[in-house]
Order: sequence, then C-alpha cells, then structure tokens
Amino acid sequence: MSDAAISIQNLQKTYAGGKTALHGVSFDVPRGQIFGLLGPNGAGKSTLINILAGLVNKTGGKASIWGFDIDEHPRNAKRSIGIVPQEILFDPFFTPKEALEIQAGLYGIPRAERRTMELLRAVHLEDKADAYARTLSGGMKRRLLVAKAMVHTPPVLVLDEPTAGVDIELRQQLWAYVRQLNEQGVTVVLTTHYLEEAQELCDRIAIINHGRLIANEPTASLLSKAQEKVVEVTVDRDLAAVPQSPLFEKAELKGERVIAITYQKDRANAGDVLAAVSAAGFGVVDVSTREADLEDVFLSLTSDRAAA
Ligand code: ADP
Ligand code: MG
Repeated sequence: MSDAAISIQNLQKTYAGGKTALHGVSFDVPRGQIFGLLGPNGAGKSTLINILAGLVNKTGGKASIWGFDIDEHPRNAKRSIGIVPQEILFDPFFTPKEALEIQAGLYGIPRAERRTMELLRAVHLEDKADAYARTLSGGMKRRLLVAKAMVHTPPVLVLDEPTAGVDIELRQQLWAYVRQLNEQGVTVVLTTHYLEEAQELCDRIAIINHGRLIANEPTASLLSKAQEKVVEVTVDRDLAAVPQSPLFEKAELKGERVIAITYQKDRANAGDVLAAVSAAGFGVVDVSTREADLEDVFLSLTSDRAAA
C-alpha cells in the first residue's frame, strides 16, 4: 500500500484501434499537494485521468488512489477521488441543485449529510440552484462540475483542463476555490495548457509527451531550468572549435561564425559571456539574447528531438 494520494506504476493504454496513448507511465502524487500534469494535446493526460476515474480500462500497469488499488478495491478507490472531466456532459433538464442531489444519491450519501447548498455557494452558483443546466454559461457548467466532483468529499480532486474556455475572472474564482480546498487538505491534480497557471498553482509538475513521462519535479526546480539564458554570438572569423569557458552551461556551433551559448542567469551575465569569447581570441560582430521561461523548458522537453 502506497501512502501517496495517487500512485501509478507502468501504466499502459492501447486503444481498441491500436493507438497506444500511454507507454508505461509511473509517478506518485504526494498527499496534500497541488500537482500539475502537463503535456501537449494528445499526450495522454485525459487517458490517464479517465483510467483513474474508471472510465477507461488500462491495458497494463497498476494504479492506486489513497492507497486503494483500482483493480482490487475499485469502490474504495472511486470514493477517494472526485474527477472533473475535460468534456462537459450534462443533462440539460436538471437544475444544479438536482444534479448535486442525484450525484449524492449515486454515492449513497444520506440526505442529512448532503452539502448541496454549501457546495453551490462555494462555486458561486447559489443563485442558480434552481435554474436549468442548459441556461448556464460554460464557466458556470464547469463550476457545477467541480461541485459535483466534491459531493462525496473525496480526499483527491482531479481537474482535467478545467479552465479551457473559461474567462479570466471565473478562472480566478475557480483557482481560489481549488486553493481553498487544498488548504483544507484536499490533494489536487490538474491538467492544464496554461503554463503560467501551473507555475502559479502547482507544488509539483509532471510532464508527459507521446504517452511517456519526461519530467516530474517540484515546480521550483523545473523553473530553475528556466534560469538558463541563451546568447547567440556572431564572431569575426570561422570557428574551428567551440570556445570553452566555465561560465558556459553549453556552447554549440550554429553556423561557421555563430555560436549559441547557454548560461545560468544567476552565475553570469551576457557581458561575462562576451568577455569570455573575446578572451578566446574572437572579435564579436553581433549578439542576440533570449530569455528562457517555463515555456522553453516545456518546449525543449516536448520537442520530438528531445523525445527521440
Ligand atoms: P490529452 O488529454 O493529453 O490531449 P488524450 O489522452 O485525450 O490526450 O489522447 C491521447 C491519445 O490517445 C491521442 O492520440 C488520442 O487521439 C488517442 N485517443 C484518446 N481517446 C481515444 C479513444 N477513445 N480511442 C482511440 N484513441 C483515443
Ligand atoms: Mg485531454
């Protein structure tokens, strides 16, 4: 038994048509965290989450939720997790209040223990309690789904791309609620395309690409990779070899007279780098610099070159 909130070992999924969406993914989500699962479209994020939700059958590997193996203890595993799916699917004829009551019924929660109005208040839908779902905006539906996922008070909440198509104000409200739940002890897993969002909210970030895990680190350490800066220097004659310096993280030939030098912002600046190039006997003809950020880290990790 694992004491992680979610533990995944060598998880595999090949769909009936032959498409392999997960090629053996392993990681743990520590309890109490906000954990980000990032990856480009088609990476396998929803497949992974739908396996946890019991909506997709895995073809290999193991997964447990709150210590409950999803095969051996499916009921306990399901009770331990609330999932907000990527696709919004709704019965348009139920009101938010009814939708939550029905959900509570599915989980066998006695009337006296239901928290329908409390949940609606938490997601700012109290005044829509009796409105038909079809009259709700996209953002309201999304928030109703969050309330629905929390009906059985699971210790783990998973949100699959919860802010796609949600405007900025509602996004802020949603994140405020997610943070509040996390402060109350709920472990949160979210997939998102918005890197700034992941950067701001998540304690730890895992990145998957083409069904494989390519990073799994505390956000701060992933961001420290974004401390890297690249300067391209054009020199006054052909380069037989790349000049070396202990200040350089990496130096690569980009052309006969162009070198791309990567350095750590906290250890050097562009002036130091140019001085090192001059000291190696070259005249500097042209310089361009570029700031790296989480997006660069992400792109460099998910580029097909990196995956190969
Ligand atoms: P993500 O959520 O990261 O965008 P998905 O898990 O939705 O990725 O998809 C991963 C891969 O599996 C994609 O190539 C997608 O086309 C494929 N896929 C997803 N669902 C199905 C399905 N029901 N049948 C066949 N292939 C699927
Ligand atoms: Mg998806």
